[in-house]
Amino acid sequence: MAHNIPDSPQTSTPAAPRTALGLLCLDFDGTLVDSLHPSDHSVHPSLVQLIGQLREQGVLWVINTGRTLEGLKIGLEIAALPFAPDYVITEETSLLVASSDHPEGWDALGDWNLQRDQAFRSLLAESGHIFDEIRTFVARETSAQYLVRSNGLDEIIANSEAEMEQICHRIEEVRHAHGAHPLGYQRNTVYLRFGHQGYQKGSTLARLGSYLGIPADRTFAAGDNLNDLPMLDPEVAAYLACPGNSHPLVRETVRRHGGYLAQSHTGAGLAEALRFFGFGG
Ligand SMILES: [Mg+2]
Repeated sequence: MAHNIPDSPQTSTPAAPRTALGLLCLDFDGTLVDSLHPSDHSVHPSLVQLIGQLREQGVLWVINTGRTLEGLKIGLEIAALPFAPDYVITEETSLLVASSDHPEGWDALGDWNLQRDQAFRSLLAESGHIFDEIRTFVARETSAQYLVRSNGLDEIIANSEAEMEQICHRIEEVRHAHGAHPLGYQRNTVYLRFGHQGYQKGSTLARLGSYLGIPADRTFAAGDNLNDLPMLDPEVAAYLACPGNSHPLVRETVRRHGGYLAQSHTGAGLAEALRFFGFGG
């Protein structure tokens, strides 16, 4: 969903980058491509050119998305980029490296995905009563759909962002009533998928950085929606940006951390942000 809330003009001036960029992390829908117009899923040419330049300088590129690997592959095929990302993070938590040896073309990087699976299993084994509480609340107090998934990581589809806000508020109350329980969730507009507090876009990007030996102060991250908030954090990436179509809470977060709020939407906005920080063209 696009939010065209005007921002006061960015007053800080572009400067030479403080450190050389090492890792470029971009969300896919609404950030790299315009997911509201899937028939035109191309990436803005100025961004393609900038990413190409940065790759030639040795910068590594990761797409960090809520999509499944299959969904991302379809999106990338439509986007028809002249190069592929070096890494992808799918479903916000699966860390994958490009691999010509693997039949899928992508292979798990390190033991992060196994650790996540173990953490999810433990969480599910001890959280049945918490899921029950939340499911009862959704059924009684809202008209949202609660979808039980075979892997236990259930989903909720609300009828409005306000309704999803109400549900998230309740989830937080339940979590805190159970001693800051590690149950987490990924939220994107009216959709929510349960997960683990320790496994989201931010922690997964941080793990990639640590595998690569690239610290937060050499990492750029950009996203447009609520599931991007964990990576729009200076602890994870020193260079933060969001395109002009970002959710108001994303804009507020990026502004609070001194990041760049682009005026242009999606890819054009990211090109604007990369230039602002002095990276490329
Ligand atoms: Mg997005």
